[in-house]
Amino acid sequence: MSTTILVVEDEPAIQELIAVNLTFSGHKVLRASNADQARQLIRAELPDLILLDWMLPGMSGLALARQLRSDERTSQVPIIMLTAKGAEHDKVDGLEAGADDYITKPFSPKELMARIKAVLRRRAPQLTDDVIQIGDLRLDPRTHRITGHEQALVLGPTEFRLLHFFMTHTERVYSRSQLLDQVWGDHVFVEERTVDVHIRRLRKALEPVNLENHIETVRGAGYRFTAQPI
Ligand code: CA
Repeated sequence: MSTTILVVEDEPAIQELIAVNLTFSGHKVLRASNADQARQLIRAELPDLILLDWMLPGMSGLALARQLRSDERTSQVPIIMLTAKGAEHDKVDGLEAGADDYITKPFSPKELMARIKAVLRRRAPQLTDDVIQIGDLRLDPRTHRITGHEQALVLGPTEFRLLHFFMTHTERVYSRSQLLDQVWGDHVFVEERTVDVHIRRLRKALEPVNLENHIETVRGAGYRFTAQPI
């Protein structure tokens, strides 16, 4: 699945190396050389993950990480800090500032990709390619196939993303506006009622295999995907 990754790195050779590897792995890459550029790009499009160099001209990567964490819109975006070799105290400061992980320069592309995958798996599992099986429902992000009791189900693209999000975030209640942010993306201006429409479609798609009860309506709060429907 394609994810958008923002690379904030002022050294052109390192920025290029990272961007090439990410693009090769199928990610969409946004590039910035300093905190100002990064903020401009984030304003236009919220990335799924940020690779943030510690040493930047002007505002440091650490200060930017703190700022992103304190802003509601960016508080949940996973951040991996790029730090210089041997700066042990940097790592602690970085994690305290809200970074999810750090990687020490110089690093191999393989190590970088492994770290990105690990952070996404932990923080945004709906963005990974992992097959998910819950009860008799199985979703494969690679092939875009969904089966219930081993029977193929037909879902529209929005219902697919909605189900993928639910299956990677079970047992928690999400409000309509949270679902809009998570599934439709931010900066998207659609009415909250739209969520209800797609929930209805999703339930209808699951009906032929009697799995629609996985999706529960929580009155006054929103919707929840439960692994063990009553
Ligand atoms: Ca730097």
